[in-house]
Amino acid sequence: MSVTRQLEAVRRTLPEGVRLVAVSKTHPLEAIGEAYAAGQRHFGESRPQELLAKYEALPRDIRWHMIGHLQTNKVRLIAPFVSLIESVDSARLAETIQREAARCGRTIDVLLELHVAREASKTGWQADELDAYVRSGAFGRMDAVRVRGVMGIASHTEEEAVVRRDFEALREAFERLRPAFGEAFDTLSMGMSDDYRLAVTCGSTSVRVGSLIFGERSYR
Ligand SMILES: *Cc1c(COP(=O)(O)O)cnc(C)c1O
Repeated sequence: MSVTRQLEAVRRTLPEGVRLVAVSKTHPLEAIGEAYAAGQRHFGESRPQELLAKYEALPRDIRWHMIGHLQTNKVRLIAPFVSLIESVDSARLAETIQREAARCGRTIDVLLELHVAREASKTGWQADELDAYVRSGAFGRMDAVRVRGVMGIASHTEEEAVVRRDFEALREAFERLRPAFGEAFDTLSMGMSDDYRLAVTCGSTSVRVGSLIFGERSYR
């Protein structure tokens, strides 16, 4: 099936108000161009170098989301143009984004990535360490970082109850943290190709769908 048809099939399953981020990592410019022609504007990538190359080659009104683990020394590559960094998983990374955003004279929107899955390999804050960092007031001192919400990845399992539990934990964290940030804190990013429909029923406002739109790829 074509990218356009797959994209439209996914869109049909999303309620109004839920944003679709098309995860285009590993996929060529032509595939992204096809989705763009079908009206898609939000795209997700997980490697800074690849994100930069695609940004340079494609239309400027694309909204690029950084969704993969981001090393602090790579922030500078994407700071001038990235639309949303979804994978802020440490104080050091948040502080680096603050510095680089200020250097470019921008405010960068970010999500706080929370670790909820059972797998040890998944990145993200532990809930208690994130709560403590938020309580410290550190984000209040970052004038070039705007915290927009929470992102997370559910356990990779067929067991729906486990995946649901992970999504509910993300939703709870989102509600718990919201009063600390106010109005702009409006994004709960959860759900991928295999689980986005369940994520939406658990309150997701932004889903990150890759293989269902673009087909299989060589890395996760
Ligand atoms: C790759 C990736 C996705 C998309 O995964 P699919 O299963 O292809 O939909 C979503 N979120 C993150 C953080 C990813 O790294």
